[in-house]
Amino acid sequence: MPIARVLSIGDELLFGRTVDTNATHLCRLLGDQGMLVDRVEQVGDGEAAIVSALRRACRGAALVVCTGGLGPTDDDRTRHALARLGAVALEERPAAWRAIRACWGRLRPGMAVPEVNRRQALFPCGAESLANDRGTAPGLLMRLPSGCWVACLPGVPHEMVAMADRLARRLPRLVPGLRRPVVAEAWFAGIGESTAQELLAGLFSEGDPTVGITVSELGHITLRVVGSAAPVRRRLAELRQRVEPYLLPHPDLAASLLGACAQRGWTLAAAESCTAGHLAARLGAVPGASRCWRMGVVAYQPMAKRSLLAVPGPLIRRHGLVSAAVAEAMAAGMRRTARADLALATTGLAGPTGEAGIPVGTVWLAAATAAGVVSRQVRIFGGRERVQRRAAAAALQLGWEVVNGMLPPGRTSTH
Ligand code: ATP
Ligand code: MG
Repeated sequence: MPIARVLSIGDELLFGRTVDTNATHLCRLLGDQGMLVDRVEQVGDGEAAIVSALRRACRGAALVVCTGGLGPTDDDRTRHALARLGAVALEERPAAWRAIRACWGRLRPGMAVPEVNRRQALFPCGAESLANDRGTAPGLLMRLPSGCWVACLPGVPHEMVAMADRLARRLPRLVPGLRRPVVAEAWFAGIGESTAQELLAGLFSEGDPTVGITVSELGHITLRVVGSAAPVRRRLAELRQRVEPYLLPHPDLAASLLGACAQRGWTLAAAESCTAGHLAARLGAVPGASRCWRMGVVAYQPMAKRSLLAVPGPLIRRHGLVSAAVAEAMAAGMRRTARADLALATTGLAGPTGEAGIPVGTVWLAAATAAGVVSRQVRIFGGRERVQRRAAAAALQLGWEVVNGMLPPGRTSTH
C-alpha cells in the first residue's frame, strides 16, 4: 500500500491546549482511500522545525498531508517551509490574492482586507493552490523531485475537513495503484473486552483482512474488518456469529434502543438522578427520537423524586437514595407518569466525594415495563463526568436488554 504521513503544525498542539482532531480525521480519510498511514507527527510553528519534520515525513512516502500554519500572522510558516523543502522561491499569485479578497468580502461584508492577508497569496513556485471555500487561507499542493506529494491544509478544522474531502477524491489520480479497501464494522454491547476476547479468540488478524476492536466510552464495542471484499465478508460473518446475542443494529446504544422500541411500537421515558440529563441527551441526539421517546425527568433532590415520580419518602429514608429500591420506584413512577411502555431510571454517586458505605461511582439502574421492574448495580471508575456518561450508557444497555427480552423482569441482577 502506498504510504501516507500526517503532520500537524502548531505550538498549541505541543502545549497540550488543542486536541489534534485534524490528524485523526486525516488518518481515517487516507486509510479509507487505501493509503497506509504509518506515522503522525506534531511539530511547533518554527520554520526550521517544520522543514525537518517535512523532510522526515516525505522520505519513502507517496503523500504527506500537513495542517496549520497557513494563516496571515508571522508565526504561520508552512508555505515558507515548503518552499525551502522544495528549494524554490515564493511568488505572489494575483489570482489567489483576488480570491482571498473575495472570500473576505463574503465573510466580513464592508470591511477592507488587511494587508497582512496578502501573504496568504504567496506560493512556492510550482505549487498548486487548493481552493478554500470556508476561509481565506488557500491550501497548497506540491510534488517534490522524489515524487512525493505534499498537501498543506489550514489548521481550522472545519476548513480543513472540506478541503481534505476534495483532496481525497483526487487521490486515485495523484497516487497510482491505490486500491480502496473494503471496510466493514459490527457493533455489540453488554459484554466487556475480556469476554469479547474469549469469544472472538483466533479471529483477530493482521493482513487481509485486518481485524481491530475498539471500546467506546459511549458503551458499545466496535469490530472493524479491513481488506479485500471476500475475506472481509467471510471474517465479518464469523465475528458476528460469535457475538450474536450481543450485536447492535447501530453503532450507538441510544439509536439501537429507540429502533428496537419503534419495532415493537413501544414508548419510552427516562427518569434521571445522577446522570443529570446525560441519558436524555443521548436519546435526544438520535434523529426521529420523538417517535418513541415520550419524556425525560431529572429528579435530583428527594422532593423531586417524591413529587414528580411518586417515590415514597419512607422508602427513600429506609433504603437511601442510591439503592435498588429507589431506582426501581423511580422507574415505576416514571412509567406511570409518562404512560410509557418502558421507563428507565438512574440513581448513583457521581462524586467526587462519597457517602458513608457507598463508594463513588456506585450507580443503580432500573427499567420498568408492564411485566415488572428490573434493576442493576454498576460501579464506574473515573471523574464525575465519566461516571455520568458511563451510567447513562449502562442505562441504555439495560433498556436494550429489556426490550429484546434478554432479561426476565422482576429479577435483580448485578453487572
Ligand atoms: P490556518 O492555516 O487556517 O491559518 P493556523 O495554524 O494558521 O491555521 P491557528 O490560528 O494556529 O491557525 O489555528 C486555527 C484554529 O484551528 C485554532 O483554534 C486551532 O486550535 C485549530 N487547530 C489547529 N491545528 C489543529 C489540529 N491539528 N487539530 C485541531 N484543531 C486545530
Ligand atoms: Mg497554527
